[in-house]
Amino acid sequence: MATGTPDLPFPRIDTSKAHPARVYDWLLGGKDNYPVDEAVGRALPAEAHDAARQNRAFMNRAAAWLAAQGLDQFLDIGTGIPTEPNLHQIVQRAVPAARIVYTDNDPIVLRHAEALLISHPEGTTDYIQADVRRPDEILEHAREILDFKRPVVLSLIALMHFVPDDQDAHGIVRGLVDALPSGSYLVLSHAASDLFPELAEQVTAEYAKGGIRLGFRTRPEVARFFDGLELVEPGLVTATEWAREAPLPQQEESGIYAAVARVP
Ligand code: SAH
Repeated sequence: MATGTPDLPFPRIDTSKAHPARVYDWLLGGKDNYPVDEAVGRALPAEAHDAARQNRAFMNRAAAWLAAQGLDQFLDIGTGIPTEPNLHQIVQRAVPAARIVYTDNDPIVLRHAEALLISHPEGTTDYIQADVRRPDEILEHAREILDFKRPVVLSLIALMHFVPDDQDAHGIVRGLVDALPSGSYLVLSHAASDLFPELAEQVTAEYAKGGIRLGFRTRPEVARFFDGLELVEPGLVTATEWAREAPLPQQEESGIYAAVARVP
């Protein structure tokens, strides 16, 4: 395992303020969170639980579809606290030799990274603690594990709404996508500001009280992340609408945008 902070095998966990990975874990019913995180979670509207679950289900379907296409290299940024099935478990079910590099900037994820590192023996999983706002560091590390001359799946799932516009969210994603060879894919989900605007404002305000800045985006703003890429069917839709095979059994409404796109 490599980390951006190799001297910290047991990273210090700050339990005095809420962290995105831990609030999300609480929303998913996980146990790796603290009272400060739960306080933010409890103040959120009930729909936030649905959004987290729907987002995770989208990740499962998109990862399974990509693996079924034979994609065998994944760079997942903003991985979150391990939650079964994790991305590599889904992918390696179809492609046991797949290589997955995980990245998150939250020390709690590093603390639990062991669960991400139990790879299928034929494949490889790796974890680096790093910040998407320093993409070069991530790419430099990922190149040690993944072959960037062959297609790579870049997954930014429920990540970029933690990077507001003044931190150059679109420029960061552009830079990462530019590093990918033709035939690679971007899979991205993102909380919407324009689908359920009142809920979005409420969620943003509650996270802000917990010290976490959110930048939810409109459909055109999310679509810009895919500029120059070929969206695969069904295009940029909501998390519950994204399915490649049979129609989904129930059509819940969702406030999360999601898409998968190919690098031409
Ligand atoms: N991708 C997972 C987890 C989403 S929660 C899933 O969809 O199920 C968002 C994750 O992004 C959290 O784990 C949080 O720690 C991480 N994150 C937030 N800002 C980040 C940043 N600047 N760099 C890297 N990771 C970040």
